[in-house]
Amino acid sequence: MSDLRELYQQLILDHNKNPRNFQVLDSATRSAQGHNPLCGDKVQIYLQIDNDRITDISFQGSGCAISKASASLMTDAIKGKTLNEVEEQFRKFHTMLTDPTNTPDLDQMGKLAVFSGVRDYPARVKCATLSWHTLKAAIENAQTPVTTERDDA
Ligand code: ZN
Repeated sequence: MSDLRELYQQLILDHNKNPRNFQVLDSATRSAQGHNPLCGDKVQIYLQIDNDRITDISFQGSGCAISKASASLMTDAIKGKTLNEVEEQFRKFHTMLTDPTNTPDLDQMGKLAVFSGVRDYPARVKCATLSWHTLKAAIENAQTPVTTERDDA
């Protein structure tokens, strides 16, 4: 288990240092902003949606390693997925981070499982879920920025 933790740690550090899909998406059809005032994390998500499928996604922002790595891994995980699949993935991700009795299905979670350890640090859960809440707002085309202090993140 400690080897796994170390591997997870490295993945988070790698995605923080070299975030994937870290750019403005000129072809974006929707976008949303998110803010986690407790930590100071800020993220902007850009989406291109065709026929209920996310055909492209990118993000910009600044914040702690967990928030940045989470946004980076999220963009990798959901590119090409349908909106239903994304919603299901978010539900599983949220459960993994908040339900202490949950045992994440590593096959289903893929690299997102790296955040399973965040559950032991409740203050960081919002860092890891910020990009997902912002993604949801982008899908819904929300006009007001997301803040983690206004929902059950
Ligand atoms: Zn943070």
